[in-house]
Amino acid sequence: MARHHPDLVFCRKISGASVGLLCERCEGRCCICDSFVRPCIPVHVCDDCAYGSNSGRCIICGAKGVTEAYYCEECCLLEKDRDGCPRVINIGVARSDLFYERRKHNLAGGGGKGKGKGKGK
Ligand SMILES: [Zn+2]
Ligand SMILES: [Zn+2]
Ligand SMILES: [Zn+2]
Repeated sequence: MARHHPDLVFCRKISGASVGLLCERCEGRCCICDSFVRPCIPVHVCDDCAYGSNSGRCIICGAKGVTEAYYCEECCLLEKDRDGCPRVINIGVARSDLFYERRKHNLAGGGGKGKGKGKGK
């Protein structure tokens, strides 16, 4: 079963009037369980996630949002839509592998500008 990262943390603040968005890659997915089956209820995100730097972003992966997000039928039955804002807030953590890969790559390329870790106290 194609679930996203098991450590994902959802925002869970009280949803506002704004509809959550998904990017091209995540289009059609349920924002909770990744199911593509029977999108049922439009996703509403909290004001914090709807405005500012998060506005117009995919609530699953943070890419540019292009389409409205939905809860699948199963999640509606389980009343996941009442759990509050479903935006993933630890995207950075889920992506840290990728970041690490890139950093390694930079170092291999002879970059390595940053200072090493300071000695602990
Ligand atoms: Zn939120
Ligand atoms: Zn996405
Ligand atoms: Zn679902």
